[in-house]
Amino acid sequence: MELDNEQIRRYSRHLILPEVGMAGQKKICSTSVLCIGAGGLGSPIAMYLAAAGIGRIGIVDFDTVDFSNLQRQILHATADVGRPKAESARETIQGINPTCDVVIHNTRLTSENALEIIQQYDIVVDGTDNFPTRYLTNDACVLLKKPNVYGSIFRFEGQASVFAPHLGGPCYRCLYPEPPPPGMVPSCAEGGVLGVLPGIIGCIQATEILKLALGKGSPLINRLMLFNALDMKFRELKLRRDPQCPICGDHPTIKELIDYEQFCGIPDAPAEPAANPDEVTVQDMKKALENASLNIKVVDVRDYDEYDIAHVKGTKLLPLGELPQRFTELDPNQQYYLHCKAGVRSMKALRFLREQGFKYLKSVKGGIDAWSDEIDHDVPKY
Ligand SMILES: [Zn+2]
Repeated sequence: MELDNEQIRRYSRHLILPEVGMAGQKKICSTSVLCIGAGGLGSPIAMYLAAAGIGRIGIVDFDTVDFSNLQRQILHATADVGRPKAESARETIQGINPTCDVVIHNTRLTSENALEIIQQYDIVVDGTDNFPTRYLTNDACVLLKKPNVYGSIFRFEGQASVFAPHLGGPCYRCLYPEPPPPGMVPSCAEGGVLGVLPGIIGCIQATEILKLALGKGSPLINRLMLFNALDMKFRELKLRRDPQCPICGDHPTIKELIDYEQFCGIPDAPAEPAANPDEVTVQDMKKALENASLNIKVVDVRDYDEYDIAHVKGTKLLPLGELPQRFTELDPNQQYYLHCKAGVRSMKALRFLREQGFKYLKSVKGGIDAWSDEIDHDVPKY
């Protein structure tokens, strides 16, 4: 391939770098990258890769743009809310560099399609936010011998590495052989994330991709980069390939893709979710709040900050984290409906209080999110 005059102008700041030059820019322009996820990490990754001249960028994402994404997912604009992320991503990328070939895979990455999609690219970048997809991406990359440029973020902390057993490093399973029990590690949706954090980690991933394309520098193979934004500190851990690793070890037991939802302990969604006897609906909660003769009190177990964002009038705030110290403020013989944001923490609160001898407890299914959807649209969702 040859660069035309417009490309020479576009990439001039690369061309004058001795480590890149004309030969290096041609390598970048003939490299293809699959970006798994067009969210917080995928945003800076795809935008910088397109700007740098990566020839073909694949985007896998089945999700649509939500208002709550805009705080960090800079691929998408306010006008894109409700649109498929993959389509919004393509428009943004082509606005930056129309010569970049953008292929969208508007689908969920699964054990059925992962090998077929990933094999079409030179480098894979992990911008996922869930464990099943992360293990799936890892295993598919190991099987296909593709470098897997990893990044993950939570609250104020992030990490990045390059997994490439075929280049002498470990894989994600060498580092994390077992997924955490479901529900143990909160997602960014539950725990929050500083908006700029995926920008920093995503830019590290994009840098590693360009280095791999160029074959220059020391990649993050065998190294895990840890970043803390509150302390503004980078740390580095040395990693080693685990000879016992079930997929990249000396005697691998995983030779094809498996069921990753099952591996991560996520049960198949039942067609008709069984009614949980410990749960009531937001309609029941409305009745309890409106009708004092029912003698039911509603306790909100979310945090203070969440209560400030939105709360339902007539509820008592008692954060889950303070229950062990403060449950004595409640009456064990009183009937309580417990609610949180979506119904997970209120169930934890219910189990805790039951252990303390409380008899009449229900958890409000769907929490204040469901209240906003079904009872009062004026209650903001966050
Ligand atoms: Zn491994």
